Amino acid sequence: MTDLVEEVAADVFFARGDDVNWVLLRDGKDVTVVDTGYPGYRDRFLRSITAIGSTPQRVAAVLITHAHIDHIGSADHLAHAYGTPVYTDAVEVRHAHRDYLEQASPVDVARNLVRPGTVRWLSRVMRAGVLSRKGAPTAQPFPTEDELDLPGRPRPVPTRGHTSGHVAYHLAAARAVITGDELVTGHAVLAGTGPAVLPAYFNHGDSAPALARLEELDADVILPGHGAVVRLPIREAVARATAQR
Ligand SMILES: [Zn+2]
Repeated sequence: MTDLVEEVAADVFFARGDDVNWVLLRDGKDVTVVDTGYPGYRDRFLRSITAIGSTPQRVAAVLITHAHIDHIGSADHLAHAYGTPVYTDAVEVRHAHRDYLEQASPVDVARNLVRPGTVRWLSRVMRAGVLSRKGAPTAQPFPTEDELDLPGRPRPVPTRGHTSGHVAYHLAAARAVITGDELVTGHAVLAGTGPAVLPAYFNHGDSAPALARLEELDADVILPGHGAVVRLPIREAVARATAQR
């Protein structure tokens, strides 16, 4: 495997960009991609697919946790180039279409430059395309609310809070959960590492119900939108994240 992609459970691959993660679920040569990084990550996003023995043509679907630009940067690219379906929660589809935007502005972030390193983070994400307002017009609602008939058999778990239509994905066979930005384990704007909730100015609702939803899952491999993979019962991870607040 490469530095970019780590197999964290059988056929479950965790890809880490500089500032955001995505996940690949493999079944033979076919793959489901969950989130797609910043627009500026296009090359490494495509490389992560070939690194696991698949090709962009074999991506069965793109699933989105939420429509922030660092998670949807290559979604439309696959849709336009290969006709790949792009799915997310019905509420989040409107966000992906940019009917409205729930994203912290650079001004919000600048007001909170409390940590050394945040300025460098801001300059990196500016280059990666953080100011893009394009969204993902190709996004459509899930064909079913249940487990999806796609590589990895992901089941959407609505976890509204970080955005109004945020969704996590449970991978029952791998006992894993893709938590998106509802629960992270590291971020340039956070002081430490380990399970945490992003600062309030990054969130657009109350994350408590979402965290309650996450902790009911049968999972002990946590794959966050930001930070490292954590192997911990999700209940324990939620307890630690909540204690941080
Ligand atoms: Zn986000």
